[in-house]
Amino acid sequence: MEDFFKILNTDGNSRTAIMSINNIEIQTPCFMPVATQASVKSLDSFELKEIGYKLILSNIYHMAVRPGINYLNKFGGIHKFMNWDGLILTDSGGFQGYSLAHRVKIKDDGIVFQSHLDGKEIYFKPKEVVKYQEDIGSNIMMPLDICLPKGSSEKKLIDALETTYEWAKQSISARSSNSSKLFGIIQGGNNLELRELSANKMTGLNFDGFAYGGLSVGEDKELMINTQLSANKLLPENKPRYLMGIGSPEDLVRSIYNGFDMFDCVLPTRIARNGSLFTKNGRLNVFNAKYKDIDKPIDTNCNCYSCKNYSLAYVHHLFKSKELLGYRIASIHNLAFLYNLMNEIQQHITNSDFSGFVDEFLAKYKVSDPKIQQEQKFKWIKSQGRNTN
Ligand SMILES: [Zn+2]
Repeated sequence: MEDFFKILNTDGNSRTAIMSINNIEIQTPCFMPVATQASVKSLDSFELKEIGYKLILSNIYHMAVRPGINYLNKFGGIHKFMNWDGLILTDSGGFQGYSLAHRVKIKDDGIVFQSHLDGKEIYFKPKEVVKYQEDIGSNIMMPLDICLPKGSSEKKLIDALETTYEWAKQSISARSSNSSKLFGIIQGGNNLELRELSANKMTGLNFDGFAYGGLSVGEDKELMINTQLSANKLLPENKPRYLMGIGSPEDLVRSIYNGFDMFDCVLPTRIARNGSLFTKNGRLNVFNAKYKDIDKPIDTNCNCYSCKNYSLAYVHHLFKSKELLGYRIASIHNLAFLYNLMNEIQQHITNSDFSGFVDEFLAKYKVSDPKIQQEQKFKWIKSQGRNTN
């Protein structure tokens, strides 16, 4: 137990650590590619491993709806089914209680989903959700929680926190062993008092790590940064801190600076399929005619399979022709970009010069719209209490 999360170095609020599960070691900060349907879209297990990934994310609601928990068990669990010998974190379905809200009834003892596929009713209760995750062989499980939309009344938010706390206790009691880790989820939106209330309750329970949920649903960046910073006071130092649903390079760099260790998001693969590719200077749109004659890789500094083997001109052609290979080449590159970024960040935390890296990175990385970039930079600087030069 005590070796599960070992901090190697700290630099300001940032940390680098080794998380060990089933003899597989994950160095944090880490990004987890999302395999909602037991597949990281367009990539197979070999390609993920080739990039360096050893921990991916799936979702127990989606697995329960299709192909089904019992079905997966017939195939020896999710790892065997998708031929993945790394680790898998499964989200609980709490977020789907929010994102599929029109098909959901939240009750005192669980969430009733009307399947988004065939309308069949699925009753998710906290204990069963842990059992489902254990059954399919999840390595890091998330308890069922209530995730409310922005603008919900304070009363509703407090009620949701109370219910989520009750569910958390039931989730812990449902565990059959410690071999799968179980993280607690802190909710409360951008309301710092509610975050504190939620954190005080959850950190009193015996979880292996803690996640901040509901922080990527389109809120103000400044509020988001303040909420992130609160994690340092509210969460124990010796356990992993997972910020759910964050995946753009600039957000990752900031969140790690604010003390988070783990992240997941569909963004890198989703934008890859739209022809948007990460570089240190910002995103590149491969449809742009200027790439038609570029006989160079997407990013000359990238060592990924795509950049080693294909030219921008070719990737441009594939996207123009809607060839499937284009989506794969782009997804490999974006995931490799984040993997390499995490490695670089781990190095800088180890060398205690991460804050210099953050400034340099954010100065160079252009977010798509210059106006947004400027606003974000100003907010970032303001949030750090520095001068604007
Ligand atoms: Zn690349």
